Amino acid sequence: MPAQHVIPKTPLDQWIMMKINSRPDSLINQRLDEYQLEKLQETIDFVYNNSPFYHDRLRDFAEHKLTCLNDLTRLPFTIQEDIEASALQMLCVSQSDISRVVTLDTSGTTRKPKRLYFTREDQELTVDFFKTGMSTFTEQGDHVMILLPGERPGSVGDLLAVSIERLGAIPIKHGIIHSIPETIQILADTKANVAVGIPIQMIALARYYEQNNYNPKLTLQRLLVSTDYLPNAVRSELQRILGCEIFDHYGMTEMGLGGGVECCAHNGYHMREADLFFEIIDPQTGKTVPYGNYGEVVFTTLTRNGMPLIRYRTGDLSRIIPGTCQCGTSLYRLDYIKTRNSGRIQIDDECYFSISDLDEILLAIPGIVDFSAKIFYQTSSVLLKIEIITMEKPIPKTSIYESLYTIPAINILKKKSGLTILIESFTCNNTYIPKAGKRKILVS
Ligand SMILES: [Zn+2]
Repeated sequence: MPAQHVIPKTPLDQWIMMKINSRPDSLINQRLDEYQLEKLQETIDFVYNNSPFYHDRLRDFAEHKLTCLNDLTRLPFTIQEDIEASALQMLCVSQSDISRVVTLDTSGTTRKPKRLYFTREDQELTVDFFKTGMSTFTEQGDHVMILLPGERPGSVGDLLAVSIERLGAIPIKHGIIHSIPETIQILADTKANVAVGIPIQMIALARYYEQNNYNPKLTLQRLLVSTDYLPNAVRSELQRILGCEIFDHYGMTEMGLGGGVECCAHNGYHMREADLFFEIIDPQTGKTVPYGNYGEVVFTTLTRNGMPLIRYRTGDLSRIIPGTCQCGTSLYRLDYIKTRNSGRIQIDDECYFSISDLDEILLAIPGIVDFSAKIFYQTSSVLLKIEIITMEKPIPKTSIYESLYTIPAINILKKKSGLTILIESFTCNNTYIPKAGKRKILVS
């Protein structure tokens, strides 16, 4: 009989069981519920007693203890603007106990920068998650190239390097890509067989590698992408060109950098459930959506000390994937993030499009390295201007226009308001590098 291909269980399963003191023969989900309820109550008490911001915010709620997980929905949300305005008041420890401050760019507006504070213990939790997540596809002796910022102690690349060392693998701290030919040479020289990078930078690297006739030869077998969401088109192009298995990670600084990671079944993320409690809410009403429905991802930290967050609204839209994972865990899966609340171009109540729709069309076209999109609302019509960066040869635009009109929301917009799409194409020289930040359609 042919050997059956068995998908290994996500290592998060055993890691979470250990963290919540669950016995292998007990029901992990039941124990996880109990654990999360305990930790949520501990966190609420902790922030109420130690953070001036939450002492004030939870004044009317802290007296009433949680009796079930659903009781958490009585508590108010924490939003991005709260962090911008009151980060220091959110601290639960003295500033001398903080070992890392991350300042996030709030996209060039006049808003204050967003700062997140972490203690050494908070960072240790991240390293522990990274180690477990990486062990999904990293083994002892692997050479792991880290193409994420890693210069500063406590930065994502730095913590990742520590976690990789703990796995007995060899981290190579590279930082984000500044020169594609140089990075390809380093990947070849170091015989890296695992890499961690940013999707839009990795697709540019792959396109260059293909155009350069796969020279010098790379030995990548597994690639983890992180920082921004991964379009399906990019995943399949990376697989096709680099010939490696792609894993996707979902996280943000507010989560303590790490949030969840795919298992070998590649069907959604398993989440860091012993450290973070997730909810999916209706972004308009704030109510929990029915199981399996799409909504905004909200999380509460369960184990953080420096700056815990209660019901933090991420702005990311996703859902819990109904059913169980092929890897055999009973942990749930969060679906891939399709869009962010703020990045949507809303046509009517039900209908919208976002950069991810454009990604699936444009980044699937061989030769396209990157693009940017901007919407201009004019008096009687709408202009969508797309600037495409191609690797070498210009790409025929007619087929691109046709493909873009296959996006239902764009087609509706065309019929409703008179939409003009203007495509400008630029050929990049070999020095072009896509920006590393989160991408979205700009609105003018
Ligand atoms: Zn799984």
